[in-house]
Amino acid sequence: MDATELNSQFHKWLNNSTSLVIQYVVVTFFLFFLLFVWKRTSAEYARIQQKYPDNKQIKREIFYSMIFLLMLGTSVTLVVWLNKHGYTRAYKPIDKYGWGYYYASFFLMLLVHDAYFYWTHRLMHHQAIFKHVHKLHHEFTNPTPFTSYAVHPFEGMVQLGILFVIVFTIPHHSSIVTIFFGYSFLVNIVGHMGYEFLPKWFVHHRVFKWINTSVHHNLHHSNLKANYGYYFNFWDVIMKTEHRKYKEHFEAVANRRAERKSLSKPLEQELAIQDTIS
Ligand SMILES: [Zn+2]
Ligand SMILES: [Zn+2]
Repeated sequence: MDATELNSQFHKWLNNSTSLVIQYVVVTFFLFFLLFVWKRTSAEYARIQQKYPDNKQIKREIFYSMIFLLMLGTSVTLVVWLNKHGYTRAYKPIDKYGWGYYYASFFLMLLVHDAYFYWTHRLMHHQAIFKHVHKLHHEFTNPTPFTSYAVHPFEGMVQLGILFVIVFTIPHHSSIVTIFFGYSFLVNIVGHMGYEFLPKWFVHHRVFKWINTSVHHNLHHSNLKANYGYYFNFWDVIMKTEHRKYKEHFEAVANRRAERKSLSKPLEQELAIQDTIS
């Protein structure tokens, strides 16, 4: 790679990283302003945990997220370069495999990333790794939209591995990879939002019950020993790592929201009281 090519790659990296930071800032700050500031009183009933995070937590979350976004910018630049030189399984035009495969590849990416995340996340909780790496993400026991990418750089590297797994193993059109990671980004933000707006029936529906909710990942932050999944809870159910009171927690928030009743005690306490009554 000569000096001109290096200079051009540096500018691509700068453009990619800047656009990722802008997307992150727009989405997270908008959600934070909407829920934690502007609609704070009316959204209060949908809060999963009673307390609100302090500024120190938010600053730390943003700091580590910025490191992750620069790493993501580097990975995206590298993938674009690999694509250009024919090292990935990217194809075009869409007609080559048809629209059916185009959409199916999205679901394939979901399943592959879901398995990748569950197992690497379990690995992050291994006692030899946890205290050096994943403990950082778990400092934030009461997550906010900014917690989503607040991870140790080593964990960031492991999590970015999925981008390479996908482009090297799944035949894909570049546009579906962009759509997939956009969706993945939103799911991650929702999982850390600190609020639950889904209806009570969601966790009992034949199909939807397999999709993770905000309460699902929030319980992972408050509990540590349960709910490791990303998009779906198949792996948590199969491996028996789902929080045993996940549905009760979810329903407690949904009921409170329906009754517009403030959370008087942390959910853990509230549910423990219900246990002793029944
Ligand atoms: Zn964890
Ligand atoms: Zn998390």
